[in-house]
Amino acid sequence: MAPKIPTRTDAVCECACGGTMTIATVAPIPDKADHMRHVYHCNDCDADATFDVAKKATELAKDSAKQTAGDAPLT
Ligand SMILES: [Zn+2]
Repeated sequence: MAPKIPTRTDAVCECACGGTMTIATVAPIPDKADHMRHVYHCNDCDADATFDVAKKATELAKDSAKQTAGDAPLT
């Protein structure tokens, strides 16, 4: 059974052993500028899982920040 693929905001994901994997490192990927490499580590079986995660959360955050600023009342 393969580990469940976490979303970009997940700090934990389910391991193939049934345990819980917690995020260990997040690093940029030199040849994938729009992705981050999330590495999860399982404390139960000591496995590591690596996922390349699109950085869309950052873009969405920027967009909503702009909207919020534009919609903010002047008072
Ligand atoms: Zn495990």
